[in-house]
Amino acid sequence: MVFNLARYRVVVDRATCISCGVAPAICPEVFELGLDNQKTRVIDKYTVEISESVSIGEVPEELYECVAKAAEACPVAAIRVERVG
Ligand code: SF4
Repeated sequence: MVFNLARYRVVVDRATCISCGVAPAICPEVFELGLDNQKTRVIDKYTVEISESVSIGEVPEELYECVAKAAEACPVAAIRVERVG
């Protein structure tokens, strides 16, 4: 039996996000542009905390590459990814 216990915390600094659309394009499984202010946010399914200035989520290991690629591609470095478990 395979256990997938590693989880990753994803923090989007929405105040810094310039709504370029790259994050949701690279990783639509986790990111979308929020209807509130058009800044990137973590989708509801993985959300821990959401406000106009920050979006925090937790994703399982299988989505790590997806969020890491988006973080790397963000032109203003608004996405941070860290292992939590
Ligand atoms: S790549 Fe960065 S600036 Fe562009 S939408 Fe995503 S978080 Fe915002």
